[in-house]
Order: sequence, then structure tokens, then C-alpha cells
Amino acid sequence: MTTKKVVLRFSAETADKPIIYHLVKDYDLIINILKAQINPHKEGTMVLEISGDKYDEGISFLEKQGILVQPLETEVVRNEQRCTSCGACSAHCPTQALYIERPSMDVRFDGEKCILCLMCLKICPVRAMEVRV
Ligand code: SF4
Ligand code: SF4
Repeated sequence: MTTKKVVLRFSAETADKPIIYHLVKDYDLIINILKAQINPHKEGTMVLEISGDKYDEGISFLEKQGILVQPLETEVVRNEQRCTSCGACSAHCPTQALYIERPSMDVRFDGEKCILCLMCLKICPVRAMEVRV
């Protein structure tokens, strides 16, 4: 039996489809939802642990639905030398993985809360947030 952790990225068109239901019912997969989030544009990110003999078929099904599937070996990290603690990212991070610590006003990063939405990579003016594979 295959067990893997993956990140799914949904467009607004696919975010409300019963994807998990089909993975369980049609492909006999065991799904453990580790993290999930939908942004104001109705785009979704979900981190799943998937187990089952039909793992590959289930992933093909997801991709045919237009869902981007990435292995969880990917992680977001912060380049501490580059970060200026400007705070821009903290306002856009949906899970408060990036947050302002008071009273110091330093910007902290808690990787455990990160759902890999990649918003901070677009926001950061000095490119301090990076994807590590
Ligand atoms: S990728 Fe960046 S913005 Fe998204 S959850 Fe992780 S730290 Fe927050
Ligand atoms: S936007 Fe970039 S420079 Fe500003 S606090 Fe976030 S990681 Fe640091």
C-alpha cells in the first residue's frame, strides 16, 4: 500500500467539487486532511496524507479535474538574511504562519502552520520567502 503526503491546489471552479468523496468512494483511498484553506478568491489549498493501492489512479483523477498536485517534500522557508521584517507578508498569510510579534514588531515564521499557499513568495519585496524541495 502506498502512503504519501501531497499538496492540492484548487481553482475557484474546482474548490466546491466533492473531490475527497470521489477519492474515498471510487479509489478506495484513506484520506487524512492535515491542513486546508480557501482564500477570498475561492481558490483552495489542501495538504493530505493519502493511503491505498489505487494511489496513482486517484492522483490521475485529481489532475484530470484540473487540480495541481505536488509532493509535500516541498516546503516554504524564510531567508533570514534577506528578511527586513517589513511585515507585508503577515497581512496576507492565511494561517498566521507569518505573524508580527509584539512588542518587538519582529516578523516571525512558524513553518508548522504553513499550508504552502505561496502567497508570501508573491508579496515579499526582497524575495526572502523561498520554496525548498
Ligand atoms: S506559503 Fe507563505 S503565506 Fe502561505 S501559509 Fe505559508 S507562510 Fe503563509
Ligand atoms: S514580506 Fe519579506 S521582508 Fe517583509 S517581513 Fe515578510 S519575509 Fe520579511
